[in-house]
Amino acid sequence: MQFNSVLKYGVLFFGLLSLWAVAQITRQDYNGAMIEVLDQAPEEPTDDVIKSPAEWAKELSEIEYHVLREAGTEPPNGTIYKQFKAQGEGVYFCAACGSKLFTSKEKFDSGSGWPSFYDAATPESLDLDVDYHIGYKRVEIKCAKCGSHLGHVFEGEGHDTPTDKRYCVNGVCLSFLPTGEE
Ligand SMILES: [Zn+2]
Repeated sequence: MQFNSVLKYGVLFFGLLSLWAVAQITRQDYNGAMIEVLDQAPEEPTDDVIKSPAEWAKELSEIEYHVLREAGTEPPNGTIYKQFKAQGEGVYFCAACGSKLFTSKEKFDSGSGWPSFYDAATPESLDLDVDYHIGYKRVEIKCAKCGSHLGHVFEGEGHDTPTDKRYCVNGVCLSFLPTGEE
């Protein structure tokens, strides 16, 4: 083997190795992320919540910041999803601003590996935004109060729910108040 090819394969090998390492670290961090369980209702914002990236970064964990403020996506079927599935009745709030987003009434098991709801808690809870980030049309869900990214909504998948819509939400975007705690 010529020195050049050794160098080429070496670079390729270490490149792949570091990609793998980053993927492992990311997955581990996400597995440490949990839905915050509240013991009282958060103070819900009455007006739009506007903060600078630096202010958000101070208040949110790194993963929350990435998903909520940079439209990231947590891996499906993680620890946080298992936590979500096991939760009983209650209300889900925006992890960034405390606005009410969903309730357990609209929660359903879509089999997707992400927290799923068939509707929002109220028609005013969410803003919808069309994006083409991955090459085709998707409808992004944002918190109506603070504009944070929550996930996407998909329609017509044939789910046996009143709306046939799937609000596919990242668990890290939510905090949860179990019924009986309010
Ligand atoms: Zn919010």
